[in-house]
Amino acid sequence: ARVLAIESSCDETACAVVDGLRVRSSVVASQIEVHAPFGGVVPELASRHHLDSLAPVIRAAIEQAGLEPTKLGAQLDALAVTDSPGLVGALLVGVQAARGLALATGLPLFGVHHMEGHLFSAFIADDSTASEPEPFAPHLALLVSGGHTELVEVHGLGRYELLGATRDDAAGEAFDKVAKLLGLSYPGGPIIDRLAAEGDPSAVAFPRAMLRSKDFDFSFAGLKTAVAVHLEREGQPRSRAELADLCASFQAAVVDVLVAKTCAARRARGCERVHVVGGVAANAGLRARFDDAAAREGFRLVTAPLRYCGDNAAMIAAAAAAHVAEGRAPRVVVQSSVALDEARATP
Ligand code: ATP
Ligand code: MG
Ligand code: FE
Repeated sequence: ARVLAIESSCDETACAVVDGLRVRSSVVASQIEVHAPFGGVVPELASRHHLDSLAPVIRAAIEQAGLEPTKLGAQLDALAVTDSPGLVGALLVGVQAARGLALATGLPLFGVHHMEGHLFSAFIADDSTASEPEPFAPHLALLVSGGHTELVEVHGLGRYELLGATRDDAAGEAFDKVAKLLGLSYPGGPIIDRLAAEGDPSAVAFPRAMLRSKDFDFSFAGLKTAVAVHLEREGQPRSRAELADLCASFQAAVVDVLVAKTCAARRARGCERVHVVGGVAANAGLRARFDDAAAREGFRLVTAPLRYCGDNAAMIAAAAAAHVAEGRAPRVVVQSSVALDEARATP
């Protein structure tokens, strides 16, 4: 199905057009500079900036997909919008714009759970890719992003079983908070990732929380505290090399737990296919360690393409396209917080 989707759940304003799993256009306007001075996303500012960015972003996505703004009703099968979870004010801006488009075009509007979108980020392919994208299929997913760290067994479209989740901070949140402690800018994930590549991951022994717990839950708040305590005792790093060592040691602690627990869940569930998706899936250290684990244990690993790890609307459009193809009824319910396995439980 041909779908145009809008994503505005956090600090990225995005619009994309897909045909099934093929991405025809994907435009993302990031608000990083808006929120960086505050060291995190300011909800009120996010809403206001979505309001300003949305129209030009939608126009660009329509144009780049080669569509005619006045003929969308005939050129598309459906519209989609992220309706949960996220900052409620930010979600409402995207949903209201999508409703306007639906009114103008007569197209049905599908609400999509943001994390279901992240699941689809590992299946979509750009127009330039020669091979056909593989259809959505069962797998074990590690959803690892700014607000979530979850292990989900995907049995099929809309059939998501939550195996475990973080009990406190998400992994991306830990990266961002530790970056803040180190005086680095926001978002901290990509910065720590780059510095970690130069450092020694065994320089500082940080805790690996819940590594040996029998469940598939995570906890990262203690690790953040461990970094704070280390800085209180030793002071801020005095050289780039020391900073890199700290980043590498922190990152290794996060990566160790993510990889070990995902592999344990895979063995327990007998999954042959593992997907790593979400903003933190861009992490070079995490990708390398998952590559090693896949080679060692012989499972198939799929990491989302780098440009679709962070928030985008192509993944949202692709999820909606799959629901359209299955003949699901369109439905939009704005919710700031709802679990993936509880969203749209009723048809
Ligand atoms: P959610 O998807 O849970 O609602 P979100 O949409 O805000 O949260 P994403 O945009 O998916 O989150 O991911 C952003 C997060 O990913 C940030 O915490 C950021 O620091 C982190 N991140 C991005 N790149 C990297 C990287 N290379 N290494 C580690 N973390 C990264
Ligand atoms: Mg973001
Ligand atoms: Fe996200």
